[in-house]
Amino acid sequence: MIRYLLPALWLFLSQAAPAQTNRPEQYDKPYVILISCDGLRYDYVERFRPPNLLRFTEEGVRAFSMISSFPSKTFPNHYTIATGLYPENHGLVDNTFYDPERKALYRINDREAVEDGSWYKGTPLWVNAEQNGMVAASYFFVGSEAAIQGVRPTYYFPYKGSTPNEERVRQVLEWLALPEARRPHMITLYFSDMDDAGHRYGPSDEEHIGTALLELDKVLGQLFDGAKATGLPVNIIIVSDHGMIDVAPDKLVNTDPLEQESRYRIANNGALAHVYLEAGADKEAAFRFLKAKEDHFRVYRIEDFPFYRSCPPNPRLGDLILLPDYGYYLRDSRRIAQARQGNFRQGGEHGFNPEFPEMNAVFYANGPAFKQGLAIPSFRNIHVYPLICRILGLPIPDDIDGRVEVLEGILGE
Ligand code: AMP
Ligand code: ZN
Ligand code: ZN
Repeated sequence: MIRYLLPALWLFLSQAAPAQTNRPEQYDKPYVILISCDGLRYDYVERFRPPNLLRFTEEGVRAFSMISSFPSKTFPNHYTIATGLYPENHGLVDNTFYDPERKALYRINDREAVEDGSWYKGTPLWVNAEQNGMVAASYFFVGSEAAIQGVRPTYYFPYKGSTPNEERVRQVLEWLALPEARRPHMITLYFSDMDDAGHRYGPSDEEHIGTALLELDKVLGQLFDGAKATGLPVNIIIVSDHGMIDVAPDKLVNTDPLEQESRYRIANNGALAHVYLEAGADKEAAFRFLKAKEDHFRVYRIEDFPFYRSCPPNPRLGDLILLPDYGYYLRDSRRIAQARQGNFRQGGEHGFNPEFPEMNAVFYANGPAFKQGLAIPSFRNIHVYPLICRILGLPIPDDIDGRVEVLEGILGE
């Protein structure tokens, strides 16, 4: 009996438990801090010239922009950056979606779903690190709270948006001060400030967006200084998940009339909505019903929808897609009334076609692994993952969408 139990126990422990200490061959590896500034649009740094970020980008590597994956929403794109996979391949196809096979809904404010690793495919950077005996740490990043393939970062926190940014930075610097056996080499960090300000005021609001960026810049400055003071080979990569576009309260499309048809359910994400037919429902009838109601939005059959590559389409995408016209956003009547009465600030939105310049994100990198003073053209966010694997000497899975050749030229000798 024990002959069977011991290997099973070992397999369980080796898969479920994080590394906790670095294997000795990892000691001399460099360090990577991957920072996501949610909603930091590609043009903000040029426009507002925050001093610390500006110096960081000018002295290191800066991309003209980073192109998000569709849809340009927070969860799909963070998890694309973390896995090197397009959303339809890593499974987080939107912030809210339905899985017809599980018969369950995933929503970003449903803690149980967010922390359930069975929703997530691919091998996120921190899982790759831990599986290779390298300690990883996360002060928030989409997916890091879930045991994916049974693995979480050695150090992580369940998401709590109210945690002050200074506390996040303090903790990262504390991690870097740990003895080398326990010191994480792969660290993620997340700030939501620019997304918050962008939604509230819209990206054209010079005063509020500029103020938010200067505040964030102070905290980033503390991190840059603290990382430098460690004397360790720390590489800092700053990314964002998407940009932001102004959407005024009079550009909201009411989705309530679309719900009258009972043979489907809609997962509305504003910049697109997924329509899932009930078993046995007539797809063409549903298509015609929605088509007749087109008003500042268009309905597509999933197989005709131009943004997805997976074939056959991932069932989480739905059977039909609703796509608002440029500048419009889908909302239910309750939220539309609130916006028009001024009960919440309807400023900016994202989720739209990643090729719109307004949806473009950022990529900045600085540290001993990188060339200095280099500006590169725009590239897609699937390519960040293999770059980080290369820096940390981690294996690059061969089934990812990103390619190491796209960014390896930004690395120094
Ligand atoms: P959205 O703008 O709707 O695409 O989503 C942005 C929101 O996602 C931010 O306001 C964050 O508060 C939230 N968020 C970011 N990371 C997490 C996480 N790990 N768990 C839950 N919510 C998160
Ligand atoms: Zn976001
Ligand atoms: Zn947002």
